[in-house]
Amino acid sequence: MYILVINSGSSSIKYQLFPKDSDQPLCSGLIERIGQDNGQVTHEIFKAGAEQRIKLDQPVKDHEAGMQTLAGLLTRPDIAVIGSPDDIVTVGHRVVHGGETLTATTLITDEVKSKIKALYPLAPLHNPGHIKGIEVAEKLFPSATQIAVFDTAFHQTVPEKAFRYAIPDKFYQEDGIRVYGFHGISHQYVANEAMTWLDKPEAKLITIHLGNGCSMAAVNTGRCIDTSMGLTPLDGLVMGTRSGTIDPSVLLYLQQQKGYSAAQLTELLNKQSGMLALAGSNDMRDISKFYQENDPAAMLAYEIYTYRIKKFIGAYAVALNGLDAIVFTAGVGENDPLTRELVCRDMDILGIYIDSAKNSSKERGTRDLSADDSRTHILVVPTNEELAIARECRRLTAGDHRSA
Ligand code: AMP
Repeated sequence: MYILVINSGSSSIKYQLFPKDSDQPLCSGLIERIGQDNGQVTHEIFKAGAEQRIKLDQPVKDHEAGMQTLAGLLTRPDIAVIGSPDDIVTVGHRVVHGGETLTATTLITDEVKSKIKALYPLAPLHNPGHIKGIEVAEKLFPSATQIAVFDTAFHQTVPEKAFRYAIPDKFYQEDGIRVYGFHGISHQYVANEAMTWLDKPEAKLITIHLGNGCSMAAVNTGRCIDTSMGLTPLDGLVMGTRSGTIDPSVLLYLQQQKGYSAAQLTELLNKQSGMLALAGSNDMRDISKFYQENDPAAMLAYEIYTYRIKKFIGAYAVALNGLDAIVFTAGVGENDPLTRELVCRDMDILGIYIDSAKNSSKERGTRDLSADDSRTHILVVPTNEELAIARECRRLTAGDHRSA
C-alpha cells in the first residue's frame, strides 16, 4: 500500500511515491512542459537493488496524458515499483492557495474542489493546475483517498495585525485581500526539523526558504507569526524572476506614464524581475560564478538579494522578541555558501557569527554553521515538501483530523 504525492503545476507534474508506513520514497519524477512539443519526463527509482534514472523526451498533451505516463511508469513491467494503480491508497496533492476557508489538510470532496476553484482569482498561476491534477488522479486512482495539503495553511496562525493591509475594510471582507503567505509546507517542515535538532519545542526561529521563489517566516513554538509573501507569492524577498516588495506607485507610474497593461505588469514583476533583471540570470550557480569574477551587476544583485533577507531577519527578531536560530533551506539556502555568508555578515546585533569553514564545507543534511561564539544558531535544513505531504496524509488517514 502506497502514498502518491502530486505537485501539479500549470505546465508540470512533480511526484513521489512512498510506502504507506515509511519516509523512504520508492521513486520520484518530473513531467515538464505539458502542452508543448518538447515535453520531458524524468523518472527516478530509489528502490534498493533497482536504482535507476529514466529520461523520456516525448510530447505530453495535457495533464491527463502526464498522469497516465506517470501511472504507466509505476507499473511498467521492467521497472515496476507497484503491482497495480489500486496499490495506491492515498494521493496527496500540494495546493498552493487554500484561502481562509481551507486552513488545514483535508480530504478532497466536491465542496473542497469548489473552494479551490473559488480561489482561482487569488492564485491564477497555481490552483487551476492543482484542480487538473486532482481530477485526473480521481479518474486514474479511483480507489485512493484524495487529500489536499495547503501551502497557506501553516500561516493561518499569523495574527491580524500582521495579515491585514492598511486599505479599506471592504477589500478584505468582500475580496479576501490580505496576507496569506506561501511555502508553508516547507517552512513548517524545516521549523519542525530545527526544533528537533535544537531539542527545543519553544524555539524562536526564522525560516528562510530560498529557491526559485523566496520567502521567510517567523516561527514561535512551532506556530507561524509572520511571513514575507502576501496576497500572492510576489511580495517580500527578491527572487529568481520576481521583484518581491516594491512601492505600488511603480506600477501606477508604469501604467499611467508608460501605458503598461495589467498583463504586461504581471509578466514584468513575475517573470522579468528579481535576479534575472539584476544579474542577467535567475540561477544562483551562474550569478555566484559572475560574483567571483567581480562582475559589478552580479555583485550588486547579491547585495540587494541578501540585504532584503537581512532586513526581514531584523524585523522578525523583533516580532519574535528573541531568536534561537535562523534556518536556511531550498535550492539556494541549502547550496549557496555565498548567500549565507553575506546574510550573516555584520549581524553582531543579533549575535550571528558564521563559521566560514563549516559554511563552505560540502556536507549535506541538517547542520549548524554557527561559530563557537555565535549566540544564534545558523542552521541549514534540507526541505522535503513531498515527505511533509506524505506525513500529513498518514496523519489524516490515521484519524487525527487536526492540522499539524
Ligand atoms: P528550488 O526552487 O528550491 O528547487 O531552487 C532552485 C534554485 O536553487 C535554482 O534556480 C538555483 O538558483 C538554486 N541552486 C540550486 N543548486 C545550487 C547550487 N549548488 N548553488 C547555488 N544555487 C543553487
